[in-house]
This record gives sequence, C-alpha cells and structure tokens, in this order.
Amino acid sequence: MANHEEQFKKLVSHAKEYGFIFPSSEIYDGLAAVYDYAQYGAELKKNIRDYWWKSMVQMHENIVGIDSGIFMHPTIWKASGHVDAFNDPMIDNKDSKKRYRADVLIEDYCAKLEAKIEKEVEKAARKYGEAFNKEEFVNTNGRVLEYANRIKEISRRMNHDLETNDLADLKKLIEELEIVCPISGSRNWTDIRQFNLMFSTKVGSVSEEANTIYLRPETAQGIFVNFLNVQKTGRMKIPFGIAQTGKAFRNEIVARQFIFRMREFEQMEMQFFCAPGTEMEWFEYWKKERMDWHLSLGMPAGNYRFHDHEKLAHYANAATDIEFNFMFGFKELEGIHSRTDYDLSRHQEFSGKKLQYFDTERNESYVPYVVETSIGLDRMCLAVMSNAYTEEKLEDGSERVVMKIPAKIAPYKVAVLPLVKKDGMPEKAREILHCLQPLFMCQYEEKDTIGRRYRRQDAIGTPFCITVDTDTLSGDTVTVRERDTMAQERISIKEIASYIAEKLK
Ligand code: ATP
Repeated sequence: MANHEEQFKKLVSHAKEYGFIFPSSEIYDGLAAVYDYAQYGAELKKNIRDYWWKSMVQMHENIVGIDSGIFMHPTIWKASGHVDAFNDPMIDNKDSKKRYRADVLIEDYCAKLEAKIEKEVEKAARKYGEAFNKEEFVNTNGRVLEYANRIKEISRRMNHDLETNDLADLKKLIEELEIVCPISGSRNWTDIRQFNLMFSTKVGSVSEEANTIYLRPETAQGIFVNFLNVQKTGRMKIPFGIAQTGKAFRNEIVARQFIFRMREFEQMEMQFFCAPGTEMEWFEYWKKERMDWHLSLGMPAGNYRFHDHEKLAHYANAATDIEFNFMFGFKELEGIHSRTDYDLSRHQEFSGKKLQYFDTERNESYVPYVVETSIGLDRMCLAVMSNAYTEEKLEDGSERVVMKIPAKIAPYKVAVLPLVKKDGMPEKAREILHCLQPLFMCQYEEKDTIGRRYRRQDAIGTPFCITVDTDTLSGDTVTVRERDTMAQERISIKEIASYIAEKLK
C-alpha cells in the first residue's frame, strides 16, 4: 500500500511538473478540489472526450449528441429528487476538526478487510504454487470467509441505515467498528447530519426578484428535459440515445485523491430510451459495450471490474459500476443504471407536459424506460494517467519516466527533432513539421541533446519522435523512434504521415 501511495504522489507531481494538471489558483495558495488542465492535460482530456463521442454518437446511427445549459429551471431539481435527496451523510472529528463522509469511512474500513483477503490469497498462492485454485480457496478458507461475511454484514447494515435515513445507527456502526480519524487518531465523533451537495446561486439583477438556481450536479437532466424536442426534431425512433458531455458541480464533503473527486468536474453521459420491458436487455448490452470501450484503449483487463449494486435507488431496477484499479484501489469510474421511467414521469408530473412516445409497432403511447451510461471524464484521465505512469531502468543503467498513454489519445502524436541545431537540419525539420501539423498534434524541439529531448517526449507521452539528421539532408529519410520500445526505424519522408496514421488506427 505504502508503495502505491508513493507512486500516486509521484504521479501527482509528474502531472504538475510536466504540464498535465495544475492546482487551481496556485498563486493564491490553491482552491480545494478544483484543478486546471494544463497544455498536455487539456489535450489528453479533449482526446478522451472525442474518443467517447466518436464511439457513442458517430458510430451509432440511433444516438445523437446535445449540449444543454449548466443552469436550468430550478423545478427540474425538485422533480429529479436532487433538492430533497441529493445528500451525503457527514460526520466531523471533534479533535482534528476534519469532516468526513460517514459512508466513506465505513467503506474504507471494508476496503481494509478486502486487502486482508487479498493477502491471504497471495500467501496461499505462494504456498500451493501451480496447484492453487483461487475460487475454491476463497469459498472454503475459514479466515477469508470470516472477513467476507463481515464485509457483507457491515455493508448490509450501512445500506439499510442510508435507505431509512437512520443516522443514529450509522454513527453507532462507526463506533462499534472503532473507526478512528486518520488525522487525530481519535474516536471523538459528532453526530451525523445530511448535507446537500448542490451549489446554488441567484439569477436576476434585482435582489428581491432574484431566484435561487442550481449549478447542475449531473448532465443527465438536460437530456431528460429535451427528450421530446430531440425525438421530434431528429425523427428518432425508439430505441434511441441522447449523449452529452459537460461540466457538473458538487459540493463534495471530502474532496481528495487529486482529480478523482472534484467540486467542478466533467461528465460524459448517454441516456438510452427504450420500450418498457426491454430495459434489462439494453442494460446488459450497454454493460458490455462500455467495458469494450475501455478495453479498446488497450488498458489491461485486470484493472477493470464490475461492481453490481445490491442496494438500488428506489427508481432503478438494475445498476452496476465499472471500477478501475486506481493507485489507491478499485474505485468507481463509470456507472450504468437502468432508471425505469422515473425521470421522465417525474418531469411529466412537475411540468404538466406529456413526455410520451407513440410506438407505431406496439400501437400505443408510453413513457420510455431509460438505461444510462455515465462516466467522469476527469476520472478517466486519472485512470489513463495512472496506468501510463512507468518508471524504467534501461540497459545502460540510466532511468526514464515514460507516460505510456494509448497512442490514439496521447496529447501530442509526433515530435519533430533536428539532431543538431545547424547544417540546415532545423529548416528541414520545420518543413516536415509543417506537412504533419494539419494531420497530427506535433511538437518541434531543438534545444538540448537528442537523448534529453527523447526523455522529455517520453515524460509527456508522445508516441513518435521523428529525427532529422545528415542522412535526411542527403537521402530524404528520417528515423522514427517509438516511445515504449524505443526502437528506431528509418523511413522516407514521404511515408511519415501514412506510417503514423497506420499506427494510430
Ligand atoms: P461517488 O460514489 O464516487 O461519489 P457517484 O456514484 O455519486 O460517485 P454518479 O452520480 O453515478 O457518481 O456520477 C457518474 C460519474 O461521474 C461517476 O462514475 C464518476 O466518474 C463521475 N463523478 C461523480 N462525482 C465526481 C466528482 N466529485 N469528481 C469527479 N468525478 C465525479
């Protein structure tokens, strides 16, 4: 664990030092839980967003994309349940004065039990070698079963307390588990209170007339309230989807773990409208489709897992999270929810407007059912960066840090480097640069030795370096160096664009 924490710290400082992510308002000592994307981070984020948009909208004939406002009519948040129920249970430690989410304290406790199970498994795997059967072991080993049962029992009680809003019992659970504050080490807790996560502000210039409105805590409601507009103007037939990406805001009680939990973040959501009774089929379809999307980036399958919800929101009939193995353990990266007709029915009720679809095949009108996929763009950036960050010892004894970002979403695709800053090499390199710029994000660098320039490109994750040397001047060829293998190949200038395009496919 300590090793992972260390790695995580290194990643955060690498992200800052190499221009991926800066703390917000740094010259004013920062603003908690807000981060700015720097030159390479912004490119990475944009590429992930585009990759998502392309696979969700461009590649599906029955999905279209919209871009709705951050501000919306305040009644929308009454209808969606956010005004009354978008709460987190908070608890303060009286000694450290630190605030925590009560459910997160308990989940962290369970994560420690899970780590103990993992340890037992590793120990047994070492002991039994090839004969080891993990499934059999976790189903029969006394100690493992005891830990697993405790996790189950704790989760069951916590979920029941959250569902019934029994905050007194939730506190009792924290006390019984003897959970201490990580800062003060004490068990001196306040009572638990509910805390609404929506940010509010006022619209209107005259204060008496000003209305309280909210900064959207999710992008989904902008899709629900536009459902009929899109269906009619796009002549969409059920089943169809509406996608959007954009900022969302939540006044998170504890914002930590870098860009994993922020107060201002970006979501990529898709609401898929289908006929009642077909939603489970679509739920399974989107579960698979979304996992395939992650794996299509070449991220290791072992870093992903589904976490099916046992406790379902009252409006959902199925829900799962795609969890990613971040440097601090498996955590939610994306949610896939079957939300029934809850949202559209509520908006129908609160707005007084019909939100129904006439199904010509069934010859009836109904409020469609919805399966949604909802992923945090910032969390996806963090997943990609955690997976990419690699420290390597090279054969010559030197070390390098390389960001092995999947080439198709890497911030810059190509760096064009003259071997030396003379003999016409910079001019030739710039000529090549100008040919490649309309096709790929390119960098040009001529300062420092070629070795140091390669290291810099490794550190920002550029998959290809094109080097212009004396042979280029005499024979119109360059070397292409591949980031991960560091292998170099000589190709003709004419071939560069198609060579790179082929590798990025
Ligand atoms: P969590 O349990 O981690 O608070 P959630 O279940 O509230 O997340 P959803 O409401 O399902 O999250 O939001 C969908 C996605 O939006 C999440 O899977 C996550 O990737 C992203 N997300 C949610 N809250 C944040 C946040 N504060 N910062 C960054 N991303 C977030």
